[in-house]
Amino acid sequence: MSFTLARRTQRMNSSAIREILKVTERPGVLSMAGGLPAPESFPIEAIRLAGDQVLSTQGAAALQYATTEGLPPLREWIARRLSRDGWQVDASQVLITTGSQQGLDLIGKVMLDEGSPVLLEQPTYLGALQAFSPYEPLFRPWAADAEGPLPQAMSGAEPARLAYLVPNYQNPSGHCIGDARRRELAELAIRSRTPIVEDNPYGELWFDTPPPPPLAARAPEQVIYLGSFSKVLAPGLRVGYIVTPRGDHADVQALRAKLLQAKQASDLHTPALNQRIVMQLLDMGFDLDGHLDTVRARYRAQRDAMAAALGRHLPQGCTWHLPQGGMFFWVSCPEHIDTSQRLPRAVEAGVAYVPGASFYAGMAAGQGRSLRLSFVTLSPMQIDEAVARLASCLA
Ligand code: PMP
Repeated sequence: MSFTLARRTQRMNSSAIREILKVTERPGVLSMAGGLPAPESFPIEAIRLAGDQVLSTQGAAALQYATTEGLPPLREWIARRLSRDGWQVDASQVLITTGSQQGLDLIGKVMLDEGSPVLLEQPTYLGALQAFSPYEPLFRPWAADAEGPLPQAMSGAEPARLAYLVPNYQNPSGHCIGDARRRELAELAIRSRTPIVEDNPYGELWFDTPPPPPLAARAPEQVIYLGSFSKVLAPGLRVGYIVTPRGDHADVQALRAKLLQAKQASDLHTPALNQRIVMQLLDMGFDLDGHLDTVRARYRAQRDAMAAALGRHLPQGCTWHLPQGGMFFWVSCPEHIDTSQRLPRAVEAGVAYVPGASFYAGMAAGQGRSLRLSFVTLSPMQIDEAVARLASCLA
């Protein structure tokens, strides 16, 4: 008996991060590799209470099949929360997904053909590469300057089928695109009719001031927006959402209908129990903004600890920016260092990171010398020790 796999499987790779995480489960390894939110930040007791309440008052509905679009009051809550900065979101635009990761897959499924050009930041989110790759698009690196991706990249001869970006505290670079560049990007997306996929899992994790308004607020008819409760409450809930563009044009209606059909084929709906737990939590008066203040304070202290440790330990020639939110530092090493090659040595020394090469669609010269460090999973004291170990491997 032989099993012939579909051609698209040749484009599927196991995530480098997951492979590394397996190794780093070894005791004694201080891992800055995973993008795991701090477990201490999960509101476990509030979720337990909400879960009890859901099962005792709406148990049957929570355990029954549900609609593909998602729980209506949760869609309404999301639309209300996002409607600010001049962006008016209607609940009918919101499709609840099983994490925003599913949103990326569904968008790839309904928007990409073999050879479709996709504009991607360099570096970009590894999970987006994984989600889009099986649909066999042509990844086009998005030229950038210090302010972020260049708007004019959208006005090329062959328009991109979609342009993907993470404007807030990007995974992996930590970069946040400023308001002026967002306005330019939104304007050019409208003029060139380029669909933008704005992925925003980290927007609530700001440290000093909130990020500028989303691109979706400037180009509501041109942007497909992705959000998630993963970094706000807990990733194990797997509750995320797509906000489809505003308007009732035939192409927007078709996009919504096809996303819905694709989701139906994929999992029928996101677990009703989880959606109801999130809704119950919010209805019970859980202080979400107070909770986020606590998470931000924790992450900010860890960010500061890592900034100090990097300054103290890393060899000359290593550079990084101070992230203003999110979970990651992006470190550039001197030219001769290949961070993929050094990883086994680092794991031997009891420290793990993600080599920068994982975050590029194709390798070009110089991309192998960066690495991503998460600052949210280790305590400030562990961070100092982990960075010291890292420095000894890079020296
Ligand atoms: N987009 C980005 C940029 C991410 O970093 C992540 C999580 N690592 C996701 C999407 C997926 O998040 P989730 O599916 O948990 O919502």
